[in-house]
Amino acid sequence: MRILKGEYHKLSKEKGFFIIGEISFELVDRFRDKTMLAALKGSTIFVREDIIKLSRVDIREIVVHEVAHLFSKAHGERFKMAVQFIGGNQRRLPIQL
Ligand SMILES: [Zn+2]
Repeated sequence: MRILKGEYHKLSKEKGFFIIGEISFELVDRFRDKTMLAALKGSTIFVREDIIKLSRVDIREIVVHEVAHLFSKAHGERFKMAVQFIGGNQRRLPIQL
């Protein structure tokens, strides 16, 4: 949890973006879809608790991805632009977000 918030704050500081309103993180045991690691609902980013085992870089990618979803629900052009703006180039994670 601390790591997630830390990565989020680092990102918003580095990239100079801020989002009006608070983003909160919530850990979940698992999603109905077992391949899912994270999901954005309203202004809350739900994250599977075992992502803590992933590397810092992967965790950061997940945060970038979910924050980008604030700008676009689908993974279209608008989403890609948001990812680029927030966190540079996103690697393709072998997981569904
Ligand atoms: Zn996604």
